[in-house]
Amino acid sequence: MYYPQSWSRTVVRFSMYIGGSLIAGLYFDNIALAVLLAIAALLVSNYVHLYRLTKWLWQSRTMSPPSAPGIWHHIYEGIYHLQRRNRNKRKNLGELVKRFREGSEALPDAVVVIDSDVRIVWCNRNARIELGLRWPDDSGRRIDNLIRHPKFVEYLEKSDFQYPIEIPAPTNPLKTFEYRIMQYGEDQLLLIVRDVSRVSHLEEMRKDFVANVSHELKTPLTVINGYLEVLDSSYVDAPPIVSKAIQEMGTQTYRMQSLIEDLLILSRIESSAERIFENVVDMQAMFKQINIEAEALNKEKKHRITFNIDPELIVYGVETELRSACSNLIFNAIHYTPPSGTIDVVWKRRANGAYFAVIDNGDGIEDKHLRRLTERFYRVDKARSRKTGGSGLGLSIVKHVLHHHNANLEIQSRVGQGSEFSFLLPVELIKQKEGV
Ligand code: ADP
Repeated sequence: MYYPQSWSRTVVRFSMYIGGSLIAGLYFDNIALAVLLAIAALLVSNYVHLYRLTKWLWQSRTMSPPSAPGIWHHIYEGIYHLQRRNRNKRKNLGELVKRFREGSEALPDAVVVIDSDVRIVWCNRNARIELGLRWPDDSGRRIDNLIRHPKFVEYLEKSDFQYPIEIPAPTNPLKTFEYRIMQYGEDQLLLIVRDVSRVSHLEEMRKDFVANVSHELKTPLTVINGYLEVLDSSYVDAPPIVSKAIQEMGTQTYRMQSLIEDLLILSRIESSAERIFENVVDMQAMFKQINIEAEALNKEKKHRITFNIDPELIVYGVETELRSACSNLIFNAIHYTPPSGTIDVVWKRRANGAYFAVIDNGDGIEDKHLRRLTERFYRVDKARSRKTGGSGLGLSIVKHVLHHHNANLEIQSRVGQGSEFSFLLPVELIKQKEGV
């Protein structure tokens, strides 16, 4: 441990030195000359030490400082101490970087560190194999010059790294890679690329399976339904048990048909590659049509349904999907609100997007169910849903449609007071008026 030279000691030493020269001056009867000589000697000695210091700093190979008297000793020791501290810090940092690199090399994923200008800082071995990066040749090159898939370039440009993207591998289009970017350090990004070919293949198989089974079931059900209708109308004097059976079979066949219809819609939306910015949806016309269907559905329950629609609010999107989402929410409100309720449908512009809401004064839903409502086949009350003919897929369809349109379903509900199902389409999807 080194203690800094105290000022008082330096002053005392300097005073003693000058005092000595004064005494020598008195003795030789020339004080001025004696003091001048003493100061000149001090200057020369300091210059010599400065020279030795510079030589030690720039030319010497040894870390330990040369010996020196007085304050120079402290300067040497101070610098030596700082140098040692820096060396230790560098060593620790080096160890840390080495450990990080060893850890990243051991990962089964490709890892690339990029800076804020998306230039490559470092990549691991898997990145070289799977992404075809060359190291160190590609160091400092822009990552979007090397991975040129449009979806990846858009992902980088948007800088919204909340969700990963899945695109074909640059070195093998038969493989599917998941790209995930996250903030790393202060101004760097970490790109992690994972092979998800197997998962996405299974997912494709699942979607195809559901779509195919639903499609295949459609024809036999139509045939059964056709015969049931014929039986129903031709057996006028049938025993009560037979007419009841025919009627029940008809109801169940109808339920199965609507279930299959919903499954087909869901799988169509899931695999929809339709670009939402390509078509304009006339929402007013769409709501007119839904209103007619809602009135037909509302004959028994006699709810007061009001449509509060902004006719000028036109959006980009997939019309069939948006129709499916809005009508599902409106028809649910009709189904799950006790007779003579009120249902308000709102479509209006907000500062942050196009807002749609269905507000009813029905029984409401308990908090514990809200989070799970959009799961497939999730129902609050199974028996009641069955009575309404619901497939349990309605809100699932709504969720997928909204996801496709970069929006989310919001559900607010209070038991005994009613529910509000709403979503906000982002501003980018609102079609601006001509000339605006
Ligand atoms: P279903 O085909 O059974 O209606 P959904 O996915 O459309 O399936 O709805 C899931 C569940 O959410 C319904 O079973 C019902 O319990 C509940 N639900 C949906 N909308 C409302 C609403 N407006 N009021 C009360 N409950 C609702």
